[in-house]
Amino acid sequence: MSKGNIYIVSGPSGSGKDTLLAELFKRIDNIFFSISSITRPMREGEKEGEKYNFISKEKFISMIGNNELLEHNNYVGNYYGTPKAPVLKASEEGKDVIIEVDVNGAAAIRSKLSDTVSIFIMPPSFEELRKRLSGRGTESDEVIAERMYKALEEIGRAKEYDYIVVNDDLDTAVNNAVSIILSNRLKLDKNLNVIDEVLNNVKS
Ligand code: 5GP
Repeated sequence: MSKGNIYIVSGPSGSGKDTLLAELFKRIDNIFFSISSITRPMREGEKEGEKYNFISKEKFISMIGNNELLEHNNYVGNYYGTPKAPVLKASEEGKDVIIEVDVNGAAAIRSKLSDTVSIFIMPPSFEELRKRLSGRGTESDEVIAERMYKALEEIGRAKEYDYIVVNDDLDTAVNNAVSIILSNRLKLDKNLNVIDEVLNNVKS
């Protein structure tokens, strides 16, 4: 069995990547979502262990010390990190893995793991992003301003990614992301066993 692909997915806050990924998980099987450990307070509607493990700063620092994180970053005053063991285990088991991280996290993972595929979820425009962020109603004006600034910085680094998926129409964006994953599953290096099996059947 070949290893699963490791996908790094980024996109500015408000790009709709959570909704897009939730839809993607409904349409693709044998895929694992990497749950990040973070120190940001839980937002309304969020659940422990769904997308994030909400942990204390002390616990986060001990995870760094124990080398348990594949990468970690400080984003708008809070720590976010990707636990290493579950990602490597799922990939070893042949599952594709989705790691959702910011652009710094993405760069750190690329430098550590050789075989990743990265996807940037792009909002259709900056104006649309502003609307989505203000419309959420969960953040203060100050936090929204910080996230807008961060978004500009992140979009400026979209060229570091292998694929760009524009999230204007959700269904189109999901189809495009699904196509990326399914086409990667058809690559030669993932199917060498298929060739061997067919050839072995001829010989026997
Ligand atoms: P939010 O607070 O809006 O949920 O996430 C803020 C940013 O942190 C997003 O860009 C998200 O992709 C990123 N993020 C989520 N988990 C991780 C992680 O484990 N590591 C890093 N570096 N960024 C993360």
